[in-house]
Amino acid sequence: MQIICLDLEGVLIPEIWIELARETGIEGLMATTRDIPDYDALMKQRLDYLERNNLRLDDIQSVISGMEPLPGAKHFLDTLRTKYQVMILSDTFYEFASPFMRQLAWPTLLCHRLTVDDQGRVIGYVLRQKDPKRNVVRALKHLNFHVSAAGDSYNDVTMLEEADAGFLFCAPENVIEEFPQFLSTTSYDELVECFDKSEQDGKSVK
Ligand SMILES: [Mg+2]
Repeated sequence: MQIICLDLEGVLIPEIWIELARETGIEGLMATTRDIPDYDALMKQRLDYLERNNLRLDDIQSVISGMEPLPGAKHFLDTLRTKYQVMILSDTFYEFASPFMRQLAWPTLLCHRLTVDDQGRVIGYVLRQKDPKRNVVRALKHLNFHVSAAGDSYNDVTMLEEADAGFLFCAPENVIEEFPQFLSTTSYDELVECFDKSEQDGKSVK
């Protein structure tokens, strides 16, 4: 039986921090996991920009409330969920994700939490666990699921490695070049085909 693990930002929704950078004009917030592979370094940089520009959680949530999933994402996810169990594994935060989850009909999401002080300032974050995406895939495999996964960035690599089948989706050139072992896809239809094929391959192995 197959479970699909999907990254969120860049696969189903736009990059939240890039939108925040555009809305606020803070150039430094443009950096994502695509540019800085060290997630902790990236988050420290982001929190530093938030503090220096006096941006609070409310300000970020108001930008997010104006955002929508990527075109076709809801249909893609609905299609997958009729055939397979689907989990979204993300390095975003529950405080950011809710408006998108509502628009995507509340799929299962495993991500992290922000630490917010009583003034509404984002002062830190709590990772659910170390190397969270890989650990979820590993746990699902222990439960005897065949796991396929798709993501677009550096923070997806351990998930793609651990999965029975891992695919890149609309990844930037540097990621595609660095990880040629993962089939690179560019459309939802193509990705559904890959997952269907992986399900068949999984059955033939067992
Ligand atoms: Mg991503």
